[in-house]
Amino acid sequence: MILQCYKCNNKILPGGSSFIIKITAISNFNGIIEPQKNIDIKTLLKEIEEEIRGLPEDLIEEEIYKEREFILCPRCKELFLANPFGKELDDLKPPESIPPP
Ligand SMILES: [Zn+2]
Repeated sequence: MILQCYKCNNKILPGGSSFIIKITAISNFNGIIEPQKNIDIKTLLKEIEEEIRGLPEDLIEEEIYKEREFILCPRCKELFLANPFGKELDDLKPPESIPPP
């Protein structure tokens, strides 16, 4: 199977490098899930699974937990990570003063 970059559609040759971008959107549960130390993401996800058990499945998928995966080529990965949400970068001001060399 030939992979393709999700963004630029470039083919990723066999053995070529590519990256999987995983996006997980988890509801904050309005504070029910508190930040916990010494808890790894797998344990956290298991806890969430237990908490949402019993809720309608479509609601769970749409409102509480959503996971997407994208394959990106190295270049698109860099671009994505530099500005994942495509924000305007006009708040990146140059430094007020540049120190003399
Ligand atoms: Zn690409």
